Amino acid sequence: MFQKGRIYTYIGEVVVSMNPYRQMDIFGKETIEAYRGRELYENPPHLYAVSDAAYKAMKRRAKDTCIVISGESGAGKTEASKYIMQYIAAITNPGQRVEVESVKNVLLKSNCVLEAFGNAKTNRNDNSSRFGKYMDINFNFNGDPTGGHINNYLLEKSRVVHQQQGERNFHSFYQLLRGGSEEMLQSLHLQGDPALYVFTREGAGAATSYNDRSNHKAVMSALDVIGFSNQEITSIYQILASILLLGNVQFEVDGESVQVVEDGVVNQIAELTATDPDCVVKSLLYRTVATGGGEVIEKGHTEQDACFGREAFAKALYERLFGWIVSRINSVIEVKNYNPVLHGKNTVIGVLDIYGFEIFDNNSFEQFCINYCNEKLQQLFIELILQQEQSEYQREGITWQHIDYFNNQIIVDLVEQPHKGIISILDEACLTVGKVTDTVCLESMNTKLAQHPHYTSRKLSPTDKTMDFQKHFRIRHYAGDVTYSVEGFLDKNKDLLFQDFKRLMYNSANPVLKEMWPDGQLGITEVTKRPLTAASLFKNSIVALVDKLACKEPYYVRCIKPNEVKSPVLFDDARCQHQVAYLGLLENVMVRRAGFAYRQLYSRFLQRYKMTCEYTWPNHLMASDRDAVEAIIRQHGFQDDVAFGHTKLFVRTPRSLFTLEQERAALI
Ligand code: ADP
Ligand code: MG
Repeated sequence: MFQKGRIYTYIGEVVVSMNPYRQMDIFGKETIEAYRGRELYENPPHLYAVSDAAYKAMKRRAKDTCIVISGESGAGKTEASKYIMQYIAAITNPGQRVEVESVKNVLLKSNCVLEAFGNAKTNRNDNSSRFGKYMDINFNFNGDPTGGHINNYLLEKSRVVHQQQGERNFHSFYQLLRGGSEEMLQSLHLQGDPALYVFTREGAGAATSYNDRSNHKAVMSALDVIGFSNQEITSIYQILASILLLGNVQFEVDGESVQVVEDGVVNQIAELTATDPDCVVKSLLYRTVATGGGEVIEKGHTEQDACFGREAFAKALYERLFGWIVSRINSVIEVKNYNPVLHGKNTVIGVLDIYGFEIFDNNSFEQFCINYCNEKLQQLFIELILQQEQSEYQREGITWQHIDYFNNQIIVDLVEQPHKGIISILDEACLTVGKVTDTVCLESMNTKLAQHPHYTSRKLSPTDKTMDFQKHFRIRHYAGDVTYSVEGFLDKNKDLLFQDFKRLMYNSANPVLKEMWPDGQLGITEVTKRPLTAASLFKNSIVALVDKLACKEPYYVRCIKPNEVKSPVLFDDARCQHQVAYLGLLENVMVRRAGFAYRQLYSRFLQRYKMTCEYTWPNHLMASDRDAVEAIIRQHGFQDDVAFGHTKLFVRTPRSLFTLEQERAALI
């Protein structure tokens, strides 16, 4: 199937998509027209069909819907999300109203900007999204887009200061260095070669299908179209330049104290961030602390602290820049002056493009967060799919036999339960004053979670040589076992950034920069409340996300990656089976098998297939459409494959429908 270029199939209404790794001729205007307004099975499986189903439900039944796209890195999620948005843009606003066109334009252009700042080349994907994205598109009663909102999740900011071999920093840096004009680079104190900067050096020579130079132009123009002012655009690039320069700041130990090796770079950073050079030096070398007696003193960094501080600062600058860009886009596309009395109900289609389950050779804090997120989404998936099925059968008066499935709530609890879960234990360790190391925290987890059926420590499996006693713990996820290395967990969770940097940025004369650092306002003695830890913040954002999704009618796209080498012809059976397993597709099939894969209103079914039966063509004389449909079914001998609901016909296997489709095609 894959070789033949059939990259989509369905399990019920869930689209399973296989990354073709080549340009397919199935995304054009004609294809869009063929799917527009049609039912799922009237055409070959396609993303457009679910997009249309989500759109129809939203428009006809005024339902909020969402399309959840999942799959591992490189499986084609982001491409799918773009096709979905293009489809929605193509089928809406037939009247070409200017306001609507402009909303659509900003929504589409925002992808280009978010990809520049949030995507990077990894060993798995040349254009890998390093953040999760959920986008709401708002519609008016006409079904035309009136606005939207983007939520971003867990940007992988560690990439700013370090990349694995063969990988790159975020595209934005290379775009600027390779695509920025001579004049622009000069004003930013940059030279156009990524090899010159510590933060971009690793990726400087990485071959990629991504064209930095032309993408730089596209991003500049997208920023402009979206409505970023010149000052804002300049500020964005000044921040990028400051980060690159920060990477090149070196420290040396001079007797008792630590110094910056070269003042020139610091002066340039000060200029670009509109801050005082002395203050920049000071925040790089000292931190202000309050003593027990309420006295405020400046404590000099060790060289190690200075390096740590500088990297934390670079990461935070980038993370806040990214967050600010998202919120700026949101302020442009948010629905303004919407009056439900005047304009009717405002409905929403949400599109979620978020990282799939990750099992690497070395799994760290990031994988822990990502896999937790997938547990939450899996739970929602099973709940919603079952719930939806069940309530539909009930409504239609069809007997339904309950299916047992693995409820992963227990794993979700293992991670997020207050006081007992892993996140709580981590947070507690982060709050403890003194030297709590990763290992100490691991021991605490091992003790507290020893009884949990989904948690394993080396103590519990002493013969397992793949787990180091001091370093690892294992979670039995719904998708498989993952061994996590606890190294760096505490630092990443604490996500410490010295207040001095925050204050420095808040005091910037550049209003754009200042706006990104409101928490720099606080003096050292006023900072009493500890900021939430990274894991808690992430948990809160995922809980909010799940709440958002749970109140919408869900549509699912499950993406599968056919092979590890981006090949359009290779199909790696074992890899695919593994993905099928962890995407929960088997449960999905089971639930569907127990029920009915297809359902259709009697009137619509009749309309489509009446020509295949002598009693219904051209018109039937029966008491109801239901009876007429029954006549069609009996004539074809499908009665064992269907059930008759109050308003709909339910069909168990697709075979029957395909037969009908073929007969119909032969007759027209
Ligand atoms: P993910 O977001 O799941 O990590 P992407 O959507 O970025 O993956 O896809 C990775 C790469 O695979 C893309 O850059 C593109 O080269 C290829 N690809 C994905 N989907 C398609 C598609 N429908 N047609 C052609 N190529 C695709
Ligand atoms: Mg992606």
